[in-house]
Amino acid sequence: MVRKPTKSEISARDAAVAEAGGPAPPQPLGHGFDALVGQDSVIEALRRALEDNRLPHALLFHGPAGVGKATCAGILAQALNCEAGGFKDACGTCVSCRKVSRGLHPDIIWMTPEGKGGQIKVEKIRKEVIDKVGFRPYEGRRRLVMIDDAHRLNASSQNSLLKTLEEPPPSSLIVLATSAPESLLPTVRSRCQPLRFRPLVPDVLQRHLEEVHDLPSDEARLRAALVSGSIGRALNLDLDDHLERRRVAEEALRDAIQGGAALLASAELLKDAGAGERKVDQAASMMAALRDILRDLLVLSSGGDRVLLVNADRRADWQDWVGEMDSDGLLDALDAVQRADDRLHGPVQPNVRLVIEQALIETGAALNGEAVR
Ligand SMILES: [Zn+2]
Repeated sequence: MVRKPTKSEISARDAAVAEAGGPAPPQPLGHGFDALVGQDSVIEALRRALEDNRLPHALLFHGPAGVGKATCAGILAQALNCEAGGFKDACGTCVSCRKVSRGLHPDIIWMTPEGKGGQIKVEKIRKEVIDKVGFRPYEGRRRLVMIDDAHRLNASSQNSLLKTLEEPPPSSLIVLATSAPESLLPTVRSRCQPLRFRPLVPDVLQRHLEEVHDLPSDEARLRAALVSGSIGRALNLDLDDHLERRRVAEEALRDAIQGGAALLASAELLKDAGAGERKVDQAASMMAALRDILRDLLVLSSGGDRVLLVNADRRADWQDWVGEMDSDGLLDALDAVQRADDRLHGPVQPNVRLVIEQALIETGAALNGEAVR
């Protein structure tokens, strides 16, 4: 039984919202579903469901980080309540749309985990979601609850959501967004209709960076080539930093093949070149840079599709380099880097310098066609 909120409950809520502002969806440049780039199949599915009035009560947006999941949920929240868009798309300018985008709409509950690595605790789910979804919308047509980074719901939070997902109030829509759907309980996953967001193709991403974000063509191409199809990463990437790390990793790989003093000197450089607060994180970020290079070399040596390249801008140089290598050696080298990464993240506090040295020694041996292990 859905209880209508009393006048005083509504005004208390309005006052709280007006004072606080609130967590808001990311702002697309543009209005409505057309502002979402590179997710045609998702948009088509949503448009069709809105058109036929068959939108499910729970959706699972899954796919890599930075490809538009939260942006899409924000547009959907607007569309559901936008009279100007016929409740099928968002105009972006009406009062309702603007309230959504400013985090001020009382019927849009927007949850993101606090802090890095933070979990969404069960008390918060009870207070913010379960206690509220039973009410009819305060002023809109349909309530939308968005839980971003839903993999950070801990097990009891997920369990507490089950009943709401099972018997959802008809006027509410719950959207879970995550880059790690496998960390959700199967019982939670099975109650949501999944929509898969894909990485953007480099050409589409490049065009978007040029046309919408006004980046110069060269920079747009480089960023698009480096970020595995994530708009978020493309915009946030510290390009100089990234290129410097890659330069060090590439140099280390060449030194590893040469061996001896060059290898040891490179290990020292590598140790300090990475990103992160802890030594282990820095080393892991350099192992990731090494791995990306080795993977690209493997793609090039096997004549693979160039859209698979992470460092597409280095293709011409590496094409010559890879002529001296064979696939087995590259696979062994990737194994060596993986083992180093495992050691860095293992239960035993690693000696970072030794792990890096060993990774370079084994990588060099593998690429020189010598047996490793
Ligand atoms: Zn509107």
